[in-house]
Amino acid sequence: MVIDLRSDTVTKPTKAMLEAMMNAKVGDDVFGEDETVIALEQKTAKLFAKEAGLFCPSGTMTNQIAIKVHTNPGEEVICDVNSHIYNYEGGGIAFNSGVQAKLLTGDRGRMTAEQIEQNINGDFDWLTKTSLVSLENTVNRAGGSYYKQEQVLPIAKLCKEKKIFLHLDGARIFNAVTETKESTESTGEPFDSISICLSKGLGTPAGSVLLGTKEFIKKARKIRKVFGGGMRQAGFIAAAGIYALDNNVVRIKEDHKRAKEIEKIVKSLSYVDSVLPVDTNIVIFDLSKKINSAAFEKKLFENNIKMAAFGKQTVRFVTHLDFTDEMLWQLEKILKSIQL
Ligand SMILES: *Cc1c(COP(=O)(O)O)cnc(C)c1O
Repeated sequence: MVIDLRSDTVTKPTKAMLEAMMNAKVGDDVFGEDETVIALEQKTAKLFAKEAGLFCPSGTMTNQIAIKVHTNPGEEVICDVNSHIYNYEGGGIAFNSGVQAKLLTGDRGRMTAEQIEQNINGDFDWLTKTSLVSLENTVNRAGGSYYKQEQVLPIAKLCKEKKIFLHLDGARIFNAVTETKESTESTGEPFDSISICLSKGLGTPAGSVLLGTKEFIKKARKIRKVFGGGMRQAGFIAAAGIYALDNNVVRIKEDHKRAKEIEKIVKSLSYVDSVLPVDTNIVIFDLSKKINSAAFEKKLFENNIKMAAFGKQTVRFVTHLDFTDEMLWQLEKILKSIQL
């Protein structure tokens, strides 16, 4: 038995999901003729109270398209120093949009309206125009922390007043909603655009959906083509997304429960220095000085456990649909008995 805790992207489609995919009605989506893609886009848009959606190959693409549509070259996007759009999209903000990032240090990835307000540039020839604020929810690099609705609303109000667009990198928005217990509609409402991954906690092989107004999605469709993301009979993959929205959302709380169990186990280990609070499905902890994460990774790998080294002493475990209770017990046994 191999236990893979590197990411929630490692899940493989179940038989039922594959069946849904095989039975999909498809067409050429670049011509707008794939009814399954259209159904997925409409279903996701409705869930998050948006007018329209756009199915894309990845969450990187949905984020990057949003940045491109909302900005002009030489402008600025405000985001947290931990954000995926800044750290893990290959410099795409600069590469694709000619835009720079103003990095704020939030509370485990969560910025406040006051913080953002202090960093919006005034209208001077020599200052960079602030045209976009991007929030991430949950925050991957900060250990899966999430925004409460009362933290988002003042930010949305500020952005409206200042005529700045507000984007949500909601790669793991269903993990956030599982904890906040807000409806998806009210969660989506404050944002101009939202990116949602289907291939993380929801367990599809690929795909993300970008949401916004009809006008925004019309522009986004054009950019998707420019970025090379126009797919043809994409309904086979979109069908997995529809299946996941119908079947894999409610069970996300199990991933959170198992992550909490891992937190308890990890906290009890003599070779662990500190653990970030576990709010959703991500466990990030620091090893004591006697072992670094590369050596730890190798040791775990010898015991059939895969993990992500997240820094010299830092380790990340992510729970997901293919991580079972049996695997949790096995993990506990190995972590407690391992000789370092
Ligand atoms: C995974 C992820 C994305 C998108 O990644 P892709 O691998 O391109 O789908 C975007 N934002 C966050 C926070 C993520 O964790």
